[in-house]
Amino acid sequence: MKEKVIFLIDGQSFYASVEKSARPDLKDKPVAVGDPERRSGIILAACPLAKAKGVTTAERVGQALAKCPDLVVIRPRMQMYINVSLLISKIFESYTDQVEPYSIDEQFLDVTGSLHQFSSAEALAEQIQAQVMISTGVWTRVGIGPTKILAKTAADNFAKKRTEGVFRLDYTNMESELWPLSVHQMFMVNTRMARHLYRMGLLQIGDIARMDQLEFRRRMRLEMGKQSDIQADYYWQISRGIDPSPVVSSIRKKLKSVSHGKALRSSLYQTLADIEVVLLELVVEVCRRSRGRGYMGQVVSVGAVETDGDRSWGFGRQMTLQEPTSLTHEVAAAVRILFKRYWSGSPVSRLYISLDALTDDGVMQLTFFNDRVKAYQREHAIDNIKNRYGSDAIIHASSLLESGVARERAGQIGGHYK
Ligand SMILES: [Mg+2]
Repeated sequence: MKEKVIFLIDGQSFYASVEKSARPDLKDKPVAVGDPERRSGIILAACPLAKAKGVTTAERVGQALAKCPDLVVIRPRMQMYINVSLLISKIFESYTDQVEPYSIDEQFLDVTGSLHQFSSAEALAEQIQAQVMISTGVWTRVGIGPTKILAKTAADNFAKKRTEGVFRLDYTNMESELWPLSVHQMFMVNTRMARHLYRMGLLQIGDIARMDQLEFRRRMRLEMGKQSDIQADYYWQISRGIDPSPVVSSIRKKLKSVSHGKALRSSLYQTLADIEVVLLELVVEVCRRSRGRGYMGQVVSVGAVETDGDRSWGFGRQMTLQEPTSLTHEVAAAVRILFKRYWSGSPVSRLYISLDALTDDGVMQLTFFNDRVKAYQREHAIDNIKNRYGSDAIIHASSLLESGVARERAGQIGGHYK
């Protein structure tokens, strides 16, 4: 079987890059995206200039300003970032119909069928980078591989560190490039898992790959207990570049559910205000994907993993709505109710949202009352990025979230200023 060629394309410092391209006067200034009026809030993105001065993503605004006093902190304008992300998807879709959003600034492309028009995968990657740069001002990095995980690993560990921003990781250089990486760099290995692997004396990805699969399973059982076989097989396969998951195109795909989740550094997500920022990001993404695929859903699910530093526990709850929807404010309202009802108040290390019981939205629109039709059309119009991206297309925060959101946060989209 012919090897696939998959790209993972990542926007560098995405929110900050979008802001800088919208504000040429900031070109030579260190810029970060966060709430300038909440020093305890989190830096969501920092431009390379700011990073060079020590500013890091997910640290407190106050901490960042202490390190870099001339840092320009800009309020996030989520809807603009979503629009730019959609515009970038459109560019990708002009090269292949297999485009799968992974997050707001990362997308997978299966370009196997498009390569005959280009001298190499790298040449195609460069052309896409140039086109995205011209259209949006965002510099992208391209990881190339025969599987999604190799492409993602190529992007995160190699392409991001190179000036040309392109790197290919495949079965010819897996042993020389992938295997010497620390197990902590491995896809889906968090700090806790890395600690287990270190304790087992497995420091590099190659240490797993070189082991017999059954032997690795046996060692994992000793370390983690009997239920670890599935994990053991998964990590062993990843270490050898085995990953059958296809790029699932966002177009014409029958779906049962649309979901999105995010792992978080739990030390930073302790307050409802900070957690809600992420919940809303997830809702926005899930609703965008639902509309893009022509679906509405009637069941909203929220999952969270909570931790006290030693122990982790979680909940997953769902709610059936009166009617199907893909409207951001309606899904967000249900998510907030569910989360507040079941959250025990501990720091959160993972959040997950899904919209299930999907139906074709063409039919559902007919049953909408007027205000919902308008809301749908407005959100859909925003999805269709033709409009100049920017403030006109932005949804008013008041319509996105119910009025109950803390007064301090009025005028924000779940903690992000619109
Ligand atoms: Mg990025």
